[in-house]
Amino acid sequence: MFAQTFQHGFRQHLNAFIIVASIIFICALCGILARPLFFLSICWPANAVLLGLLLRFRSLNNFSGWFGAFIGFMLADLLTGNTLLVTFLLTIANLLNPVVTLALIALFKLNYKEYNKGLTFLYLFLLCSIGGCLASPAFAALTIPYVENTFMTPERVWIDFGMWWSGEILNMIAFLPIVLAIPEKQNLKSYLQNLQFKQFSYQDLLPLIAVIISVGLTHFFIGPGAIMFPIAALVWASLSYNLFYVAIINCIVCMLLNNTLNEFYIDQSSDAFLSTTISIRIGLFMLALGPLTLAINSLNRQKLYQQILYLANYDSLTTVMNRRFFYEQSEDIIRAKNKLQAEKTIAILLLDLDHFKNINDQYGHYNGDLVLQIFSERIKLVLREDDLLGRLGGEEFAILLKNVSLKQSISIADRIRDTIQSLPIELDKHQHIYISVSIGLSFEKLPSALPLQHLINRADQALYQAKEKGRNQICLEIGLQNSF
Ligand code: GH3
Ligand code: MG
Ligand code: MG
Repeated sequence: MFAQTFQHGFRQHLNAFIIVASIIFICALCGILARPLFFLSICWPANAVLLGLLLRFRSLNNFSGWFGAFIGFMLADLLTGNTLLVTFLLTIANLLNPVVTLALIALFKLNYKEYNKGLTFLYLFLLCSIGGCLASPAFAALTIPYVENTFMTPERVWIDFGMWWSGEILNMIAFLPIVLAIPEKQNLKSYLQNLQFKQFSYQDLLPLIAVIISVGLTHFFIGPGAIMFPIAALVWASLSYNLFYVAIINCIVCMLLNNTLNEFYIDQSSDAFLSTTISIRIGLFMLALGPLTLAINSLNRQKLYQQILYLANYDSLTTVMNRRFFYEQSEDIIRAKNKLQAEKTIAILLLDLDHFKNINDQYGHYNGDLVLQIFSERIKLVLREDDLLGRLGGEEFAILLKNVSLKQSISIADRIRDTIQSLPIELDKHQHIYISVSIGLSFEKLPSALPLQHLINRADQALYQAKEKGRNQICLEIGLQNSF
């Protein structure tokens, strides 16, 4: 047992080490390759990705994860020709960003898991940009210029400090939201299914096309105003796409604009160019905050809307449709609102638990509720996915079956009745009870001009008969009794 636990723990630590080391190695290598000679890197995703990984995945935020990050940074720099001392100092500087940001998050008790709620996202970037992003260049400026290196000198240490800090905040706003918004493993499947089944419409692409055009325009009308060209298209994209896509679009726009504007100002004198670059990066950081905040806001609104819609349409006790929603959905089917999928027949089953009052009286209301929940779950298992099940009130439920013959609907009703009577229900004090249900059935060929209430009334009369005849049985509406 102990050996097994130890082995499991060891494997987890090894995984954390390998995952973080390889991701940071690749990110750092990308950054180094984007590093112009004698300058700090333009695009350095490694620190933002590391912070994102540690925030998102608790299993990586341990000694092995941090050690993996250290090795990833060291290997990438050593392989590309830095001396051991410079590499070590650069690695410590890089690691300081997530260390300080995480410490500030803990100090201010920021619930970063809820980064998409309220102002958490803005606070996260505030802590990061004036915490971790300042700590890295401060450490670098105090150490690297005083050892042999090719990119930081004591004479222009303030400019290097500013370049590093502004680069760091730009990288954070570009890459951290992507890591934070990557869909969770359990949501990934439904995410991909949504993509597959969602009907593709060219209109969905319009915000993206607008972003591409507005970024393209910066090449033709390059100047100080170019930084704001994509703002309208980005706002449009934020209101149209989910946070993950917005984060990716934002990142690409920031990197492209950074490149375009830097190229435009490169003719300036070296010092003017450097301060302009810092200004561009701060500007891009501010530009990117807007669409991301908007995307988070619209995501929250959508989630809230879905929750409210669910509460409005479903019964909170049994999670089946409530009376109003069941009527609404059934009327749509009867009126063939969805012309593409017009149904040919429908059967309405009206179900009423037998002697339910006795269960409440004998075992209490709490157990009565439990019975209602288990009863609904068991019916769901018998039904097909697109059959409708609603709670009309109390212990009375209705089912709408689509495109079944009369014979099939009777057999489904009987399967429900049989399932309900044959499986015991376990109550809170481990008592087991058996229940039964009576069912009234009405049947109609479509399209029909009859209101749903008419079909329900017919099923209700049949249900009344089932009760009369002794319960735990199915009765057909009057017109059908002879035909079957
Ligand atoms: P019958 O076989 O004739 O249907 O008898 P019955 O006792 O099931 O019928 P009756 O309509 O007299 O009783 C229904 C009971 O359902 C009365 C009410 O207290 C109970 N009930 C209604 N809604 C709920 C609920 O949400 N939870 C619980 N626990 N009981 C409910
Ligand atoms: Mg009843
Ligand atoms: Mg009743």
